[in-house]
Amino acid sequence: MLKIENLHATVADKPILKGLSLSINAGEIHAIMGPNGAGKSTLSYVLGGRPGYEVTDGSATFDGQDLLDMDPHERAAAGLFLGFQYPVEIPGVSNVQFLRESLNAQRKARGEEPLSGGDFLKLAREKAGLLKLDMDMLKRPVNVGFSGGEKKRNEMVQMGILDPKLAILDETDSGLDIDALRVVGDGINAIMRRPDKAVLLITHYQRLLDYVQPDFVHVLAAGRIVKSGGPELALELEREGYAEIAA
Ligand code: ADP
Ligand code: MG
Ligand code: MG
Repeated sequence: MLKIENLHATVADKPILKGLSLSINAGEIHAIMGPNGAGKSTLSYVLGGRPGYEVTDGSATFDGQDLLDMDPHERAAAGLFLGFQYPVEIPGVSNVQFLRESLNAQRKARGEEPLSGGDFLKLAREKAGLLKLDMDMLKRPVNVGFSGGEKKRNEMVQMGILDPKLAILDETDSGLDIDALRVVGDGINAIMRRPDKAVLLITHYQRLLDYVQPDFVHVLAAGRIVKSGGPELALELEREGYAEIAA
């Protein structure tokens, strides 16, 4: 589904990704762990097509299409979802409005009919229930005044509604207490653990992986994948630290 080969990228002319390769098949959950500043968020921004992140070498394909050649909205319409370490607040735009417009823009790009207001609300209610997020939260401006946990659950509701093929989730566990972590983990499993979908979980800590068990774990250090393994690698990292493993 996703094939990244020898990816090099710069931010503000500074090389950050330095030859990163990674393949993800449908049905798989991969985790990327690594020290602060390794380039984890940069990888997700590059894959999402964020301006300012310049690819200088290598390739990335999504379902066989050249991902790096697509606009951000084309990537989203093709089924790529990005969850951010710091979800943005959008004052003046309600969650429901934002989600419905996002979904219908993607449907339009795929040549599908927009969802009616009633059908959309039904879908939103179902996904909000899954993430134990009150429907009232969906009527409020996007993320404004939401707690860290509410923002993350809101983002997972968004993921449920958009129903992507591949979700790249950057530190979805940051700022979550243990109950919210379980809800978010269960949500990721319910929405994404399917034979036709895949997930790339970017995380500092092992704890999210207790809830969303990865098939593969990779260590990203200094802009490259320096080690790959099974779920046991995450436990090893937690025990021994990155310095030891990435050396
Ligand atoms: P991680 O998510 O693994 O902690 P990041 O991808 O956020 O790492 O950052 C990788 C490196 O890129 C860091 O050294 C960071 O300071 C640098 N970096 C990220 N964004 C910018 C930017 N806009 N301008 C300059 N340097 C940046
Ligand atoms: Mg960081
Ligand atoms: Mg980061």
